[in-house]
Amino acid sequence: MKLSMAKLPTPIEYLPKLSRQYGREIYVKRDDMTELVSSGNKIRKLEFLLADALRKKCDVVFTCGGVQSNHARATAHLSVKLGLKPVLFLRQSQLTDKTTQIQLSSSLKGIEPGHAFELGTNGNLLLDKLLGAQLVFVTTEQYENIDEIYEQYKKEFERTGLRVYTIPEGGSNALGAMGYVYAAGEIVSQVKIDEFDAIYCAVGSGGTYAGLLAGLRFIGYKTQIVGINVTKTPSDRFAEKVTQIIREMKDFGVDVRVEKSEIRIIDDFSGPAYAVPTNSDLECIKQVASSEGIVLDPVYTAKTFRGMLESSSKGQKILFIHTGGLFGLFAQAHRFDQI
Ligand SMILES: *Cc1c(COP(=O)(O)O)cnc(C)c1O
Repeated sequence: MKLSMAKLPTPIEYLPKLSRQYGREIYVKRDDMTELVSSGNKIRKLEFLLADALRKKCDVVFTCGGVQSNHARATAHLSVKLGLKPVLFLRQSQLTDKTTQIQLSSSLKGIEPGHAFELGTNGNLLLDKLLGAQLVFVTTEQYENIDEIYEQYKKEFERTGLRVYTIPEGGSNALGAMGYVYAAGEIVSQVKIDEFDAIYCAVGSGGTYAGLLAGLRFIGYKTQIVGINVTKTPSDRFAEKVTQIIREMKDFGVDVRVEKSEIRIIDDFSGPAYAVPTNSDLECIKQVASSEGIVLDPVYTAKTFRGMLESSSKGQKILFIHTGGLFGLFAQAHRFDQI
């Protein structure tokens, strides 16, 4: 039912200096250490999703995300390891005229130098390229109707007798979120979770939050789970999505009822836009790295860590889920020039 590709369990570590400084007991679940090339939270979801792809005898894996998507990079890596062909549909928000049409290319060749800079030929994108993933760049508008583009490409693969498996954005459907139901079990085996006031995780596509919440409730724990929204999609939309994912988990044996009131997702730390950090987020990255040696990323975990510090109270014992994202940091290295 699930592959074993992640290095589990990931450790839970105490952060002594930041705990002292902020007057809280801060622990970190090191899901940034789930693997190397496919590190972060997505591998836990992909262990379920790619098992399904293999079971259905698929040859090609489609998924989508932002141009520096951690999920796309992890999908590319694990697909290669399993002998599947990854095709990544990457959203490029500021396309120049020359690149507004979809590019069917397996490399960045043919892209204007100026544009290549915009894309950033580093971070996750560099790994996607090295892993030999087929890259299809799409505009924001095309991304909104990604299913139509999938259909066109799918037909082409099927014409040559290949079967396509499609993974949703962030791997966030009920099957993918099962990865975090398992992670909840792992956490419970490592610490006395009922002694914690709250668990904090990023909300990007909602699967991590949904899985943790369903998992903890399923094993009988009431610990509060706080999601920090890192996107501009309002939290009530995420609450609906989380509820839906949890409802569909019944198909996989996780039959839990979660009230809307139990879902706590905070919108206040999303910054100017998805993947755009504030100066406070950048300062937070520097502070956490220089005090504890833990490196956060500018898209998800810095916003979440800051959100955790600002929305928890003195004396609380809290667990931060470090969901990874290290490669995305290198794609934004230029932002640290002023920090
Ligand atoms: C995708 C991602 C998240 C968000 O997880 P979702 O399950 O999509 O909400 C958090 N952190 C990192 C580093 C990610 O890549």
